[in-house]
Amino acid sequence: MSTSTDSTHCFLEVVLDTPLNSSFDYRWSCRPGEEPLPGQLALVPFARREIMALIVAVKDRTDVAPEKLKDALAVRSQLSPLPERWIALARFAADYYQRPLGEVALPGLPKNLRVPRTVALDRALKKLAKLDLQQDATAVDMPVLNPAQQEAADAIGGAEGFTPLLLWGVTGSGKTEVYLQACARVLARDPQAQILIMVPEINLTPQLEGNIRARFPGMMLATLHSSLSEGERMLHWLAAHNGQARIVLGTRLAILASLPNLQLIVIDEEHDPSYKQQEGLRYSARDLAVWRAHQLGIPIVLGSATPSLESWHHARSGRYRRLDLRERAVRDAVLPKVRLVDMERDRARDGLTSEVLAALRGRLERGEQSLLFLNRRGYAPVISCDACGWISNCTRCTAFMVLHKPEHRLRCHHCSLELRIPRSCPTCGNVDLQPLGRGTQRVEEHLHALFPEARILRIDADSTRLKGSAQAAFDSVHRGEVDILIGTQMVAKGHDFKKLTLVGILNPDTALFSQDYRASERLFAQLMQVAGRAGRGGAPSEVLVQTRYAQHPLYGAVMRHDYERFAGQLLEERKEAGLPPFMYQALLRAEAKELPIAIEFLEAARDCLPSDAILINDPIPMTMTRVHNVDRAQLLVESSSRPALQAYLRVWVEQLRAMKSRVKWSLEVDPLDI
Ligand code: ADP
Ligand code: ZN
Ligand code: ZN
Repeated sequence: MSTSTDSTHCFLEVVLDTPLNSSFDYRWSCRPGEEPLPGQLALVPFARREIMALIVAVKDRTDVAPEKLKDALAVRSQLSPLPERWIALARFAADYYQRPLGEVALPGLPKNLRVPRTVALDRALKKLAKLDLQQDATAVDMPVLNPAQQEAADAIGGAEGFTPLLLWGVTGSGKTEVYLQACARVLARDPQAQILIMVPEINLTPQLEGNIRARFPGMMLATLHSSLSEGERMLHWLAAHNGQARIVLGTRLAILASLPNLQLIVIDEEHDPSYKQQEGLRYSARDLAVWRAHQLGIPIVLGSATPSLESWHHARSGRYRRLDLRERAVRDAVLPKVRLVDMERDRARDGLTSEVLAALRGRLERGEQSLLFLNRRGYAPVISCDACGWISNCTRCTAFMVLHKPEHRLRCHHCSLELRIPRSCPTCGNVDLQPLGRGTQRVEEHLHALFPEARILRIDADSTRLKGSAQAAFDSVHRGEVDILIGTQMVAKGHDFKKLTLVGILNPDTALFSQDYRASERLFAQLMQVAGRAGRGGAPSEVLVQTRYAQHPLYGAVMRHDYERFAGQLLEERKEAGLPPFMYQALLRAEAKELPIAIEFLEAARDCLPSDAILINDPIPMTMTRVHNVDRAQLLVESSSRPALQAYLRVWVEQLRAMKSRVKWSLEVDPLDI
C-alpha cells in the first residue's frame, strides 16, 4: 500500500534520536516556493511527544498507509539545511559504529536547535549577526620558519586533494607554528575557506586560541568544546555552519561540526586517547577526521611527537606522507637529558628519592621551575587497618575508595560514592588507619613540609573542578608564580612552559606490567610528552624517572628520545601477536545485576552467527568487573579484514537486537581498552 501526494502535500522522511534503526515518514503541507529540503530540521509527533527530527529526504509518495500517517508540526526554515555531505558523514559514522543515523546526527547538533521552540532560534540568529567572535588582538609577526618547518608548512599549504600528512615533530619542534603558517596559506588562497583544528584537551584550547587570534586578527574563530554553555555552543556552531567562522578550534566533538567550506583539517597530538569517545557513540574523532578529509578531497595533518601506532603504520606503508621535525625550534633549546633514578639504590622517602630532592633544591636556588608528574589523584589510593586487614573497598565496585584528605572524604573514582573518613576501623574498631601508597595530594603535603618557602601548585581534576580554575592555574605557571608544580596527565600535554627546567616522574612502573596491550605505547607517549615540557625556554634541563626497573627497554627508549625504534619494535610485536593495527576488532559489552547473566547473553551472542572470516573469542568478565552494582563482561570479535568485520557486525547487530535480551549491551568498534 502506498500514499501519494496531491499538489499541496509532500512527505518528509526523517530520522530521530532513538535506538530504532529506521527512518519515519510524515505528511507536510507545503506552500509553493517553501518546500522543505533534506538537511532541515522538522518538529514531529513521536510516541506522544513532540521531538526534533532531521529531514533526510522529501518525497511525493510513501509506503505508510494514509490512516497511519501523521503530520509534521513545523519545519525550521530559518536554518539553512545541513549540507548533504554532512549527512553523509553522519551516515558513515552511524554505519561504521553500528548505530542508527538519528542517534548520531541529532546529538551532533547543539541542544538549542533541538528544543521544540522556534523563538529561540530567531533570537540566536539575531545575536549572531551582532556577535563579535572576531575579538581584536594585536597582530604578531610570523617567526621565520626553520628549514624543516618550512618544508612541512609548504607540503601542507600546497597539498591538493585528499592528502593525509603525519607531522612527526619532537616536543617543542614548533608544530603549532607549522599549522599556523599552513593555515595562513589556505585562508589566503580562498576567502571562503574554513579550517578545523582539533586538540585532545579542553585545557589546551586557550593557549592555541590565543595564538590563532594573534596571528589572524579580525578573522572569525569559533570554538567547540564541552565547557561552553548551550547558548555559546549554539552561536559557535552556527558561525561554523553559516561559513562565517574561518577557523573552528575544538575537542573531539568538533568533528561533527557543519563546515560547508572545509579545506584543511589539523589534528594536534593525534595519538591522544581523548580523541576516542568512551560512551554512547564510541567514535574515534581522528579516524572520522581522516574519513571526512577523504570525502571532501582535502589535506589532513596529524601531528605528534609520538604518533599512534596506527598512524605510524600508515606512514611506513606510504598511505600517509611523513613530515619530520627532528629538532626544537627555539634556538638553544635542546631536548632534556633523561636520567633514570634507580629506586633499588636510592630509596624514596615519602615517594621522593634523594636525587629528585637534590634536583628540586637546585631549581629553587636558581629560581627555575620544576614539574613533578604523578598520574594518580587523591591523597592515597586506599586506606587500611593493620590490625585486621580491612581495606577501603568500594561497596559498589571492584575498586578501592580513594582517600581525599583535604576534603575529608573517601571517594570511589568509578561510581562517585563518597563517605566521611571513618574514625576507626569498621570491622575491629582500631583507630589507627593507614593510607597506603600516594597520590598528588600527599606529594603536595610532603613538598610543603620539605620546602616551606617554595610556591607549590597542584593541578589535577580535583584542584580544577571550578570553571576557569584550570586556566587560572596554568596562567600562574606561565607568569612564573609557581616554583614546583605537581600534577597528573593534565599537566603533561601540550603546554609551553618556558621556565621549566626539571621534570620528575614519580611512579611510572605500574603501567609496565598492565594486561592492556596498549599500555606500553601509552606509557611511552606519556613520558615523552611530560619530559617534553622541560627545557622549552632554552635553559639546560633534565628529566628524572624514578623506577625499580631501570633496565626496562621502554625507559632506555625514553632516555634516547627514540620513538622511531621503539615504535618499530612495538609494531613487530603487534604483528606477531595478531593485534591492531594488523587486526581489526570490535568489543561487545554486557551489563547485568549478576555476572552469569551477562556471560550467558554473551555466550548466546558468540554462538548466534558463526563465521569463517571472523575470530570470535569467549566471553570474559571485564578487569574491573563490578561498577555501581552492575557486573560487566565482554566478548571480542576480530578479523584481519576491516570490510569482513564490518559486514559481519551489520548482520550480527541485527541478530543481537532481535534477541530482545534484558541485558544492557553495547558494541564498540576499534576499542582502545580491551
Ligand atoms: P610543539 O607543538 O612541537 O611541541 P610549539 O609549537 O609549542 O612546539 O613550539 C615550541 C616553541 O618554539 C614555541 O614557544 C614557539 O613559539 C617556538 N617556535 C616555533 N617555531 C619557531 C621558529 N621558527 N623560530 C623561533 N621560535 C619558534
Ligand atoms: Zn581493623
Ligand atoms: Zn564505586
